[in-house]
Amino acid sequence: MRTVVDLTRCQGYAQCVFLAPEVFGLHGEEGLFYATAVPADQAERVRPAAAACPVQAILLGQEVSSGAR
Ligand code: SF4
Repeated sequence: MRTVVDLTRCQGYAQCVFLAPEVFGLHGEEGLFYATAVPADQAERVRPAAAACPVQAILLGQEVSSGAR
């Protein structure tokens, strides 16, 4: 799973940090940082974190597999 945060929307509410601290973090008051590649064992934490974001700034996507089948 991959995650992208629209930092122009993010207001630093830190709901995501609270729910998935391994993936999201805050520097100081407002600087959000996050892992774009979500470890498999964190996926079940990241989904509710994205749902909890008050401004829907967190977008989730599946890993794009490379190579044709
Ligand atoms: S919950 Fe949303 S607004 Fe709050 S820090 Fe996370 S991405 Fe930003």
